[in-house]
Amino acid sequence: MRTAIISDIHANVYALKAVLEDIEAHEVDRVICLGDVIGYGPDPIECVDLVREHCALTLLGNHDFACRTQPVNFNFMARDAALWTQDRLDLPYPDEAAREERIRFLDSLPVRQMLDDDPRFLCVHGSSRHPTNEYVFPDDGFRAERMKPLFDRFEGICFEGHTHWPGVFVCEQLSGQDPSYSFYRGFCEEGRQGSLCGGTQTGIDRIVLRLSEGTRYIINPGSVGQPRDGDSWASWSILDQPDGETDTDPTLTFHRTNYDWMRVRERIEQYRRDGDDRLDPFLGERLGMGR
Ligand code: ZN
Repeated sequence: MRTAIISDIHANVYALKAVLEDIEAHEVDRVICLGDVIGYGPDPIECVDLVREHCALTLLGNHDFACRTQPVNFNFMARDAALWTQDRLDLPYPDEAAREERIRFLDSLPVRQMLDDDPRFLCVHGSSRHPTNEYVFPDDGFRAERMKPLFDRFEGICFEGHTHWPGVFVCEQLSGQDPSYSFYRGFCEEGRQGSLCGGTQTGIDRIVLRLSEGTRYIINPGSVGQPRDGDSWASWSILDQPDGETDTDPTLTFHRTNYDWMRVRERIEQYRRDGDDRLDPFLGERLGMGR
């Protein structure tokens, strides 16, 4: 079974379409989405419709929740974008039945879900402890007091998004010893000589997940629609689970996909020119910086 894992699309339909095309070229069996389909970007309707069509499982993100309820603890930029998104979701596009379907879908997203009912594969947007809202940043990865309560809440792998930073947190425990914690940044060089934004970057592009040895992992695929690791390309990953061989460990690979972020910036600025200033121009500019 080959599963593409995407997260944090944030209503960026140009990034989402490019990633879905790339995923198709990688011949996966299914796609799962770790939430924040909407919020920030200019095309929430199109993104919800594409995710509904393509994803076997989608989790609830904090922005999805805010756009369906009310933004709480958001900065001004995120709050205004959420309120703007709420108005977009009210549009009967292309008809009232489609609008209702979209709302029903967003309102039914789970906050935590086991993949294939397998307790070794937990999916959330934020963390195993606070599934919608907790951030687990790369800097947390080596701090036992920070990571232990998170790793104690699941068995094998916790897939999570939310920070927009791709990477793998690892918890290893040799018998009779305290667990040790580490973090590896997710990185992908495939097809992109000299195109990195933000200088030299390093990390791992592939990791064997040694579940058979009792090691546990937190995996973040990074963000499709608003990367923040200094790289403007859309970030996602693939989980490879060997079929029928329970003693063979799964493998994870990180991927990046180029897309036309300037068109997204242009879409954001167009709304402002048309008299609605709730989408901040910075939301377009930051896409080019990957910040
Ligand atoms: Zn997000």
